[in-house]
Amino acid sequence: MESTIEILTSNKNHAIFTRALSFTEELGTNLLFKSNPDSFKNAHVTSMEQYSSMYKESIENPEKFWTNIADDFFWKYKWTGKFMDYNFDLSKGNIFVKFMEGGKTNICYNVLDRIVNEKKLGDKVAFYWEGNEFSESKKYTYSDLLKEVCKFANVLKEKGMKKGDRVAIYMPMIIELVVAMLACARIGAIHSIVFAGFSADSLADRMIDGQCSILITADGGRRGTKELDLKSVADVAIAECTEAGLVVSLCIVVKNIKTNLVDECSSTKRSKDGTTSWNSNIDVWWHDIMENVNDECECEWMDAEDPLFILYTSGSTGKPKGVVHTVGGYMIYTATTFKFTFDYHNEDIYWCTADIGWITGHSYIVYGPMANGATSVLFEGLPIYPDAGRMWSICEKYRVSKFYTAPTAIRLLMKYGREFVKKYDRSSLTVLGTVGEPINPEAWLWYYNVVGEERCYIVDTFWQTETGGHMITGLPGVTPMKPGSASLPFFGVVPAIVDEEGKEYEKTIVDHGFLVFKQPWPGMMRTLYNNHSRYESAYFERFKGYYCAGDGCNRDEDSYYWITGRIDDLMNVSGHLLSTAQIESALIEHSSVAEAAVVGFNHSIKGTGIYCFVTPKNGIRFCDALVSELNEKVRARIGPIATPDFIQCAPGLPKTRSGKIMRRILRKIADGDRDVGDTTTLADPNVVEELFKNKPN
Ligand code: ATP
Ligand code: MG
Repeated sequence: MESTIEILTSNKNHAIFTRALSFTEELGTNLLFKSNPDSFKNAHVTSMEQYSSMYKESIENPEKFWTNIADDFFWKYKWTGKFMDYNFDLSKGNIFVKFMEGGKTNICYNVLDRIVNEKKLGDKVAFYWEGNEFSESKKYTYSDLLKEVCKFANVLKEKGMKKGDRVAIYMPMIIELVVAMLACARIGAIHSIVFAGFSADSLADRMIDGQCSILITADGGRRGTKELDLKSVADVAIAECTEAGLVVSLCIVVKNIKTNLVDECSSTKRSKDGTTSWNSNIDVWWHDIMENVNDECECEWMDAEDPLFILYTSGSTGKPKGVVHTVGGYMIYTATTFKFTFDYHNEDIYWCTADIGWITGHSYIVYGPMANGATSVLFEGLPIYPDAGRMWSICEKYRVSKFYTAPTAIRLLMKYGREFVKKYDRSSLTVLGTVGEPINPEAWLWYYNVVGEERCYIVDTFWQTETGGHMITGLPGVTPMKPGSASLPFFGVVPAIVDEEGKEYEKTIVDHGFLVFKQPWPGMMRTLYNNHSRYESAYFERFKGYYCAGDGCNRDEDSYYWITGRIDDLMNVSGHLLSTAQIESALIEHSSVAEAAVVGFNHSIKGTGIYCFVTPKNGIRFCDALVSELNEKVRARIGPIATPDFIQCAPGLPKTRSGKIMRRILRKIADGDRDVGDTTTLADPNVVEELFKNKPN
């Protein structure tokens, strides 16, 4: 049974499970999801009993559990004081979290020098880089990267950068991005990466918040048929920083697209002939300053509790927060979660499709995989360019065995149909991961049946920018899968569910509550940059003594956790707590619907009314008949209490650049309030106006 993955049949009452059941029937598969018995026979964890005993040790004796792991890393000096020290209770004083304080190490050393010199994996490929076009690819070994990183670290030092200085990075998915961040880590500078799809305002806001004195960027990037003019955005952002009193003294530019340079160009726009604007006071080409630089560079030995990077949350719920992660705890946590969650082995080829500009890219493209000496794919392009088969063509080309993506990407590819998937050989795949939002059962089953050919294990990983690494996740081949549930806590993680008053539910089955964590884990954030009081109020004030994740949650009879969406997305409809995710899932089930988003609005009788935004599939007309069918679907799945008050056609939904729906803005539209607030993190601000226009009276 160990190699048999099954959806537990004991949970028939759970709404999502019941729906999953009916889908499996529709799809003609039976309930037992079997994995390839050979795939996981050498797994790091091979049984639920083993998971349970390791888990027990990890929470009862975290010092013993994590020290065993930390011992495999290089420490210039071991910590001598407490392994873990913290306060989660505001009534007892300020909140703090520390792991291995006093220990001295360097994460760059551990992901490069240690892999090359101690693990003898210098010749192993660290990254297969795949460009936007089929014809572009390169590979980089661990030794190659070590040299490049040392060179760039020397450049940064030569430019006056030192431990504690902040460096902003705004780059496409190219190897220089990895080199830049690791070079910062090597000299102890704090990197602050801003996703290269963000606007000049968003970049400037983040640079100002972090007081970054240098910016590393590229002349441009390519995403499908679009060319991103990154340098022009950078120019505008730097001008905004200057206006705000921040001196940006250096802008290092990677030549990534073939452009000519207009020296001393005063305009901030790249001209039509493909030249790059240039301010020779601060702009330098990467390739120029990397010439004749020494390829050896001593590491700065960092305290385990020194900051490693700042990363801003995606901003789905408000102004982005500058989450700060530190060196030691983040290092061991990302390495360990990567190893177990993907059941990583030396021969694996791993591909995470996230952008390095998000936490998923930081933890599971760069630090976690590299700390394990893994070989990864680094992809600059788009999943649907030149067509919707691109992802699977890359899987075939590199024989990818472990694959990690987001539900939004899965739903996008589902729209194009299974033919694009079937065209390519996916027999190398064994583990398929998902992250970013609750995965709806349709998408889960498509991932499992179509992509994974009913052979692969699906790991649904719940975590956050703030948590640094996976929090709730299955383990391949071991944890029985239930579509829509991230399942059980990772080692060292102690989740709990509390009620509105902050009282913890003791019983196993909880219908609805708030997800909190009771004790720290090594990878958790330590503060918000320069704003410790916002850290305390955002995460520790509402429920005393706990870290509040901000997500609603259920727990079933098998102790599985089901994330139901953000606390803000819970609606109190005539006294019943309903989650928006539940209603969205019911809507998406309809074969004409591509996407749906649900919010509450002020309703004079019910308190909160239910307002649905629905995007029909390509070629489907939004009509009254569809609206009645959707109403019926929701009533049948959840009950009459959940019947929508409004269903509006939404040709597009307001999404963050990481693909998350911004319900905060939809709530404004539903309420007819035009004061929508900060929209700088929206991928396409135009959809907001469209939705106001389409609003039914
Ligand atoms: P902000 O905090 O600025 O509003 P954000 O929460 O979208 O932005 P992230 O840290 O990228 O920023 O996302 C974490 C959130 O994503 C979680 O709190 C949860 O709501 C959701 N999430 C991530 N993974 C999963 C998952 N596997 N299942 C359910 N929800 C998930
Ligand atoms: Mg969040």
